[in-house]
Amino acid sequence: MTAKSMMPYVEGNSAIRAMFEEGARMAAQYGAENVYDFSLGNPSVPAPEEVNQAIRDILEEEPTLLVHGYNKSNSGYEDVRQKVAEHLNELHGTHFASENIIMTVGAASGLNVAIKALVDPGEEILAFAPYFVEYGNYAKNHGASLRAVPADTVTFQPNLDAMKEMMTPQTRAVIINSPNNPTGVVYSEETIRKLAHILEEKQEEYGKEIYIISDEPYRELAYDGVEVPYITKYYDNTVVGYSWSKSLSLPGERIGYLVFPSEMADFENAIQAANIANRVLGYVNAPTLIQRVAGRCLKSKVDIEAYDRNRRALYEGLVDAGYECIFPEGAFYLFVKSPIDDDVAFCAKAKEHHILIVPGKSFACPGYVRIAYCVAYDTIVNSMPAFAALMKDIKESE
Ligand code: PLP
Repeated sequence: MTAKSMMPYVEGNSAIRAMFEEGARMAAQYGAENVYDFSLGNPSVPAPEEVNQAIRDILEEEPTLLVHGYNKSNSGYEDVRQKVAEHLNELHGTHFASENIIMTVGAASGLNVAIKALVDPGEEILAFAPYFVEYGNYAKNHGASLRAVPADTVTFQPNLDAMKEMMTPQTRAVIINSPNNPTGVVYSEETIRKLAHILEEKQEEYGKEIYIISDEPYRELAYDGVEVPYITKYYDNTVVGYSWSKSLSLPGERIGYLVFPSEMADFENAIQAANIANRVLGYVNAPTLIQRVAGRCLKSKVDIEAYDRNRRALYEGLVDAGYECIFPEGAFYLFVKSPIDDDVAFCAKAKEHHILIVPGKSFACPGYVRIAYCVAYDTIVNSMPAFAALMKDIKESE
């Protein structure tokens, strides 16, 4: 018999599968160009050509046994980790070396490794709503519980007063995500300073370490030159989880890294624990060919102009059509206020207009919907009459 503990996941997944199937059914029925699928955060901009060239070069230049073998260290190739560290130092004025970096199977595995290494079963992790829905599952994987800090729906910056109220002696970590999925908000330096200050106080009060786990797959997707503060510079007990899934459009390759700064408490044990967690969770080491590719493509970038163009067109179009939303500074999502209280009902109504979007309820923030604009520009332009008709429909039924 299937494990009882997995049945809620199976049931939850059937809703996601139903949405995929519905999208495919609608595309077959109405023609793909007449269905506006904004449901997935799958990059629409191709990986830079340097990535494919690096794969070809590596296969030509590097010994096959090395490229495809187990890594000697579960943390990954020493030379790649050193290059990652130097790249970060150049960008952020930090002082990392290879020993601070663990290559991971994308951000998803990085977060699991970080939680396994730092959080004991029974402890609590806080996350700021709205947040990436998988965080709850990752916490549960390691016997921890995730508690949602309610959103500040004016700015969508972390609600620090609410966080402070919610902290208990069981709180071991706070997950942050900036640029944010699903709001596109970049957490300001002021927010990060305040967060760090509160956590310092709480560490003192409870006599224990409280970690920031900073989930950063969208770090490179920041527009108009907005600064995304580098968290280790503000708070020592920080682990950064990075991924090339979005920044190089490589989500299927499963590659990222964790940063454990030397300044963090009990650094030697923490980094060892993460190294071992990588193995015992079954990742063993990050995919080796793509580690080497990442090491050669640290300065490569996807064409974020394409996302920026989508961002502006979608935001302006939706505001003109009477929708309310915050102008996103990063990532590739727009978080729009549902014109009716029930965001799930609004998504169902949107589907009648061939628009596929995700309810805010899925991000612990009901009353809003997420629109992923990692789509073709034409999809945005062509969807505008449908969004206008949807709004008219809602107004008429009021
Ligand atoms: N964290 C956030 C906020 C995400 O949006 C995603 C993927 O969409 C992930 C983590 C997982 O990313 P990866 O593909 O690197 O595992």
